[in-house]
Amino acid sequence: MAKHLLHLAEQVASTGENLNIADSLEVEKGSSGNVRSMLAMPIRNRNFQIIGVAKIINKLNCQPFDENDEQLFEAFTIFCGLGINNTMMYNELEKAMARQKVAIEVLSYHATASNEEIQGLQREVVPEAIKWNLGSLTFDDFSLTQDQMVLAAVRMFSDLRLTSRFKIEYKTLLRWLITVKRNYRNVPYHNWRHAFNVAHNMFGMLKTCNLLGVFEDMEILAMFVGCLCHDLDHRGTNNSFQEKTGSALALLYGTQNTMEQHHFNHAVMILNSEGHNIFSNLSSAQYARVMNVLKQSILATDLTVYFQVRMEFFSLANEGDFDMTQKEHRELLRSLLMTGCDIAASTKPWDIQFKVAKLVTSEFFDQGDLEKTKLKITPPALMDRDRKHELPLLQMRWIKDICLPLFEGLTKVVPKLAPMRDGALRNMAKWSKLAATSQENNGTTTDILEHCHSLERGPSIDPPPEAPPKIPDG
Ligand SMILES: [Zn+2]
Repeated sequence: MAKHLLHLAEQVASTGENLNIADSLEVEKGSSGNVRSMLAMPIRNRNFQIIGVAKIINKLNCQPFDENDEQLFEAFTIFCGLGINNTMMYNELEKAMARQKVAIEVLSYHATASNEEIQGLQREVVPEAIKWNLGSLTFDDFSLTQDQMVLAAVRMFSDLRLTSRFKIEYKTLLRWLITVKRNYRNVPYHNWRHAFNVAHNMFGMLKTCNLLGVFEDMEILAMFVGCLCHDLDHRGTNNSFQEKTGSALALLYGTQNTMEQHHFNHAVMILNSEGHNIFSNLSSAQYARVMNVLKQSILATDLTVYFQVRMEFFSLANEGDFDMTQKEHRELLRSLLMTGCDIAASTKPWDIQFKVAKLVTSEFFDQGDLEKTKLKITPPALMDRDRKHELPLLQMRWIKDICLPLFEGLTKVVPKLAPMRDGALRNMAKWSKLAATSQENNGTTTDILEHCHSLERGPSIDPPPEAPPKIPDG
């Protein structure tokens, strides 16, 4: 372009003023000599910033550009602006997508099972359930190593007849389990051990309480997988924390079942990763059903769901109207069994219950610290390190208001679950005694201090809501 024309374009770009030159002599100055008239206008983006200049020269009828031309040309520059803007956005979007793809590739390489790990476990013999006491409802949550838990999960898949019934290939199952394990974070409580223990509770309940005949095989598969996946990628902070901090998870999923939706989506992502689909031999109808029950099962572990459904269940159980042959009743039972597995630490022998309470409290205190420092708010008592002397009382209330009614209700429908109800009663009495001792001594007895000091930093249970719903009699 001739220098003079370039200069004129620069002038439009810097002033933002339209330029309509009808004086051919002026234009011709410095140009190649055949420019008779010119109309130049700025091109603007959506923020009204100038991103270019559009120019037309030499009107066909040899007349100067008039007002009508200016209006038409202005409309054209607006379309130019939109076009350029969209192209730039598309380029940005393409780059962002490529960036995301690379990040997912890198992450999935590090977050999925390595061949060495799979081969290592493939060589191991999977022990019988009895060797690790897997058939017992009082199984010790801390008795197995991280890898032994993977093998124990394989044993449970097999003893529930899930591997044979759904033709789950052994190597795929190992790969999936190792990847699930890796996708739990190293937080005090909501980690792989908790996920395994919840799955074990489901196994124990199904096996010892004759529930295998109650549910369809697909429901059992979805519930068991749901237990293993129900807290995937938990960050040690609860739903209310996501809401209070406006976290990316809250933005993505909203404030209803925030973490649980994330756990489910993470489970789907793992299933969709290459070589991880343990459901690959299901028919499409079976697949749809399993995914549906899987989602219900994982969302059921949000205690707010428990509070929504428990009154209906309790009233059916209390009136003796619960009917295992009814689909809706079974659905309710599935939901409450998921909660029961999740909070079953409250039913375990005291030393296990106490250890778990320490871990839960450690995680809660960490969240409480974040609330104090980042949000400048006073955390709930359960999460407040400065109120650790209240722990026995809070634990006692947790069992009394949340856990015990559940296990009492479940026992009415499934009498063989009575040992879990009795275990919760025993633990409640222990915490109550500790709370009384603490009160008598103003929270400073050696015993309480000993217990509570060990809770300095310490279980995957969201705290009960400020005012728990009314508990039904019995
Ligand atoms: Zn959990």
